[in-house]
Amino acid sequence: MLLSDKFGRPITDLRIAITDHCNYKCVYCRTGNQGALYGDLPFADYLRMARVLVGMGIRKIRITGGEPLLRKGVVEFVRDVAKVRCRDHAPLDIALTTNGHLLAELAQPLKDAGLNRITVSMDAVDPDRFARITRVPTGFDNVLAGIRAARGAGLWPMKVNCVLMRGFNEDQIIPFGMFAREEGVIVRFIEFMPLEEDRVWAPSTVVTLDEILRRMAEYRPLVEIPHERSETARRYRFDDGIGEIGIIAPVSHPFCGHCSRIRITSDGKIRTCLFSVWDHDLHELMRRGALDEQLEDFIRGVVQRKEERHHIGEPDFVPASRTMVHIGG
Ligand code: SAM
Repeated sequence: MLLSDKFGRPITDLRIAITDHCNYKCVYCRTGNQGALYGDLPFADYLRMARVLVGMGIRKIRITGGEPLLRKGVVEFVRDVAKVRCRDHAPLDIALTTNGHLLAELAQPLKDAGLNRITVSMDAVDPDRFARITRVPTGFDNVLAGIRAARGAGLWPMKVNCVLMRGFNEDQIIPFGMFAREEGVIVRFIEFMPLEEDRVWAPSTVVTLDEILRRMAEYRPLVEIPHERSETARRYRFDDGIGEIGIIAPVSHPFCGHCSRIRITSDGKIRTCLFSVWDHDLHELMRRGALDEQLEDFIRGVVQRKEERHHIGEPDFVPASRTMVHIGG
């Protein structure tokens, strides 16, 4: 039976964090003085988890972290994941999320290994602002080179994700619209969620979907593109057909009702929601010698407990037990 939760949501999308380390210290994500908190596993263990989950109905795997390109062996891991087939023998859809710092050299090898798509996180198109947000002085040129190398390698369509945080980068909205048009990439704005180490989130720090649309319209009119209900981003084209942007609005327009995801952390725990207050130790079971069928039973039980929705901004909101960098976005 295909994997689904008690609300009838099919679970088809798996994110695997392959390291808890990151070489950036983005202000909306990390404190700047706290490093990795959790270990990582041999790739063979992630591969077994992936294989078992694909056998249960997963069709998409996104490799993330921490910063996944820091992990030696990531190209070989992609090659091994690409050999796994869905239940109907179709190839998996394999994607990777990266800050792009090390991408320029790895884009072509990743594509050759079987990676289908890549998302680069980039929170400013102005190099000084970029340095202020990432707290890495020389990163901007690397990331731009990484984006161009990925596009050149045919990792297409190329998505660039920007988290907007009031006071830091909301003035980058229009420059990002121009960037999308000039670089031929899909720029997606993400509403800031309370998943940061510093606990600085407040409703007023969120730049919402409506505000992004209003500001972008001052530059050029946007036309909405119909999107699948299961898609997290609302999609828009500029009126002349050049350039696409997307907005992921989990705070102002939650999409939990269509959530098809589960995550595996770098240390092998399953998380059923970004905002989970507990996680489930799949790796411990493997270490104790569980058979694949036992892993499947465990996974089914865990998925049954997937949260119905998040409670961001509500009085009963309880912060997640891990912050974004230690989960894998
Ligand atoms: N290092 C990789 C990267 O930079 O894309 C992968 C891990 S990073 C944690 C994944 C994504 O989460 C990035 O796009 C990042 O901008 C986003 N992110 C981190 N903290 C966030 C927050 N509090 N709200 C919304 N998105 C966040």
